[in-house]
Amino acid sequence: MTEHTALPPSDAPPPRTTFPPPGLMHLGPRPPQVFVRGQGAWLWDDAGRRHLDWVQGWAVNTLGHAPAAVADALARQAGTLLQAGPGFYNDRAIALAQRLAALSGLERCFIGTSGAEANEGAIKLARKWGQRHKAGAATVLSFGGSFHGRTLATMAASGKPGFARLFAPAVPGFRHLPFNRLDGLAAALAEPDVCAVIVEPVQGEAGVVEAAPGFLPALRALCDAHRVLLVADEVQTGIGRCGTLFAHTQWDVQPDIVTLGKGLGGGVPVGAVLAREAVCCLEPGDQGGTYHGNALACAAALAVLDAVTAPGFLDQVQAAGEQLAAGLARLAARHGLGGPGAVHGRGLLRALQLPPGLASGLLADAARAPAGGGDGLLVNPAQPQRLRLMPALNTRADEVEHGLALLDAALAEVAVPAA
Ligand code: PLP
Repeated sequence: MTEHTALPPSDAPPPRTTFPPPGLMHLGPRPPQVFVRGQGAWLWDDAGRRHLDWVQGWAVNTLGHAPAAVADALARQAGTLLQAGPGFYNDRAIALAQRLAALSGLERCFIGTSGAEANEGAIKLARKWGQRHKAGAATVLSFGGSFHGRTLATMAASGKPGFARLFAPAVPGFRHLPFNRLDGLAAALAEPDVCAVIVEPVQGEAGVVEAAPGFLPALRALCDAHRVLLVADEVQTGIGRCGTLFAHTQWDVQPDIVTLGKGLGGGVPVGAVLAREAVCCLEPGDQGGTYHGNALACAAALAVLDAVTAPGFLDQVQAAGEQLAAGLARLAARHGLGGPGAVHGRGLLRALQLPPGLASGLLADAARAPAGGGDGLLVNPAQPQRLRLMPALNTRADEVEHGLALLDAALAEVAVPAA
């Protein structure tokens, strides 16, 4: 067994991150590779090196890179109708709305361009509902560790420490509660100014932290008791990522509002707010946006939904998820990371817990650029001690095994034998 520590400076590898090329704003250091092509589970950089991709655009590429189903749908739609404009109906937006309603049981939707826009839309809808039906209640409750986006309101909703104050003054009207804690929940929801609570069934950016078994049902019951809308942020967990089309069904709750993004477009920017008919109280002029209901994006989303709802697809996601989790547990035991308890998540949204001496960024660097050469593996250091893995949902068993072998080698590379 080995003990993991950060490498001392004298042994430090050459920098594996770099600053931006001219033209791009500096948003933080990134790996030096420039990616130019993707196919299925694989991504190639401009030096011709291939990488098994377990990031997939941050859980975006539902069907992997450049899937024929999405490429064909885009090509067909691009030659037919890109966009009619926000003031007109188009057939793709209507088809997507009806499809999402049939699949979710939530009768109406607003189709936007990102997860943040979807959550912003959900907050607006909840506040409008509060104005109309709950004496102006406008406060939205959310949870510590949550991530809901990078618009000003969704940053205020997010429970990332210090996030809301980054661009002070923060948007008012949000209160944060501890995730997975039942004490204090009833009192918080009973406050008359509360119109909604927004929650991720699995907190992705926090490092894949699942809602405890009874937490979402308790939240639903309290929402019912106090006339508060339950908003499930399924931007990361939805569209099969956790092994079911929507993750909230695994807790057996029906939210009033569900937000989608990421996997819905399979790599094409699209997001959606799904809502019960009874809460849809927007009036003309309240909501919109030039690209809402974009026909091209809706065509991509329809192709993704066709694939994800095809018979057997979600069974295969669950099987691949179990294979990945079992393999991670084996690696955790072999490398002294703590066995099955180090593996978190559902379906193909997984994370490996690392011990304090091993930074996930160091492991991600080693996986991406193995010292001995060969295939790289792309993984996401979501938190300093949580490595997040988000393969394409249609990944094959041999690809999962290959990725586990690459991760095994990376763990061996960063391991420092116990003194
Ligand atoms: N909500 C959740 C749960 C997310 O994970 C994310 C992005 O990571 C967002 C919202 C924001 O989505 P987008 O980056 O598409 O705006």
